[in-house]
Amino acid sequence: MLTGHHLIAGREAAPDHAPFQALNPTTNQKLEPFFGEANAELADEALQAADGAFDSLRTSSVETRATFLDYLGEEIMALGEALLERAHQETALPMARLIGERGRAIGQCKLFAGLLREGSWAQASIDRAMPERVPAPKPDVRRILQPVGPVVIFGASNFPFAIGVVGTDTVCALAAGCPVVVKAHPAHPGTCEMLSRAVFNALRRAGLPDACFSMLHGRSHEIGTELVRHPITQAVAFTGSLHGGRALMDVAAARPHPIPFYGEMGSINPVFLLPGALKERAAGIAEAYIGSVTMGVGQFCTNPAIVLGIKSPELGTFLENAGQHAAKVAPQTMLHRGICEAYEAGTAVWSTIGGLKKVGTSAAEPNNDASQAACRIFTTTLDVLESNEELRREVFGPCSIVTECATLEEMLRFANSLEGQLTAAIHGTAEDLRTHAALIRVLERKVGRIIFNGFGTGIEPCTSMHHGGPYPAASHSFYTSIGTGSIYRFVRPVCYQGFPDDCLPLGLQNANLPGAMRLVDGSLTRDAI
Ligand code: NAP
Repeated sequence: MLTGHHLIAGREAAPDHAPFQALNPTTNQKLEPFFGEANAELADEALQAADGAFDSLRTSSVETRATFLDYLGEEIMALGEALLERAHQETALPMARLIGERGRAIGQCKLFAGLLREGSWAQASIDRAMPERVPAPKPDVRRILQPVGPVVIFGASNFPFAIGVVGTDTVCALAAGCPVVVKAHPAHPGTCEMLSRAVFNALRRAGLPDACFSMLHGRSHEIGTELVRHPITQAVAFTGSLHGGRALMDVAAARPHPIPFYGEMGSINPVFLLPGALKERAAGIAEAYIGSVTMGVGQFCTNPAIVLGIKSPELGTFLENAGQHAAKVAPQTMLHRGICEAYEAGTAVWSTIGGLKKVGTSAAEPNNDASQAACRIFTTTLDVLESNEELRREVFGPCSIVTECATLEEMLRFANSLEGQLTAAIHGTAEDLRTHAALIRVLERKVGRIIFNGFGTGIEPCTSMHHGGPYPAASHSFYTSIGTGSIYRFVRPVCYQGFPDDCLPLGLQNANLPGAMRLVDGSLTRDAI
């Protein structure tokens, strides 16, 4: 069924340059068909088409776009076993995980369809005119969020469904009214093709133009750079490594007209074990910790890479249990050979650092030919962690470092030295939390999400989720890439002053036909004016 074509506004463009194939990381077998490198002409074609479709998409009714999202969920599901099978071959992610992730992707379609139908997300704000006001009359001023225009999206290798072609970025951009051009991930190009066809089917069923969407393949960085640099592109969403994110962020900033670049990048997600929690349940926390470190072969941006606790017999119990649980974890195949090699190289560098000891590792040997990674848990002291930058950098995979601090002040010192993080977790009792309020005050300045008695892995895509954080976790700390708040990356406020009612956007007209919550003269209401 797969063709290997770039899919540009519904047009099939056969690959004619720098052919490549997906590789099954478990068997090292090449998978059919051949894909190829897109070029500047194809990027231009996709973005010109997106620009041409922008007016149709943004002026389509809210119900049309919500229906499109309903259809997209159905079309993803209709790909059935074939989608799961191809994604499994390309990523080695287990079927159960893929089924769960597909559910999350479909759930996101429903979430945004609901958001559109409810309408309040557009933050309509109305200040009515006061012609009699002295000394100067007040004009009628109304403001609402409007889509920015064509956007370019880069997905990561570790979420082929939920942060990929049909992931949050694509779904919320189209919901907002922005046409999308996706740079397919070269580690799972077949999955990208199947999902792109689902997008076209859903667009056609909803009566929206094919040109609302394009997907281009590429393995070099040229096509991605070209898409970010193109003058039609109005915003970029990127999920992936800090290295890649930073490179593209700089391209976006260096344009003659810089554009917003929303990068969600790596993180070490520190975990703070407070004394009360260790006294109560050191063994239980250790088991949950190893579960979190090794979930998805550690290939989560929210993986708990550094744990801190006060040196104590209870921390000793935690370490002992962590080591025992690590031994039981079978090595598993990583997403692709490159990630596995980076994991091996990263943990090999750690192993050369004096003062770092191994606490536990998978008892079974990893099969290197099948790109398998073993769980590796280390321990060290704070001075070693502080004097070795490599230990504080993300190594993507099932590894983590437990750090012994001499005092709570040391723990606080480390928290203060942190760079921006996606998450931090605190394990403690309610009393611990009250006693260590200073730690929370520090973490509020450093991270996007603070978890109490849990771990950052397993993100709930809901309204209150914030998946982001200060740089380098994300390029802009205000915005989230998961949850309904992610739509705000692709809109901007437009203010209308003195407009006749019927010439205003529907959401700002007196009748309030969408029935959305609006701020009218400073008070929230769903009432018509
Ligand atoms: P990646 O290697 O950075 O790739 C992401 C995408 O960006 C790919 O399409 C890649 O294309 C492209 N890209 C990378 N560098 C580029 C450059 N310099 N110029 C142009 N395009 C470039 O990341 P990954 O391997 O897919 O994912 C693993 C990383 O993602 C981990 O660090 C993980 O922590 C992070 N991640 C973050 C989140 C989050 O929400 N914050 C979620 C999941 C994963 P090529 O492959 O062709 O280079």
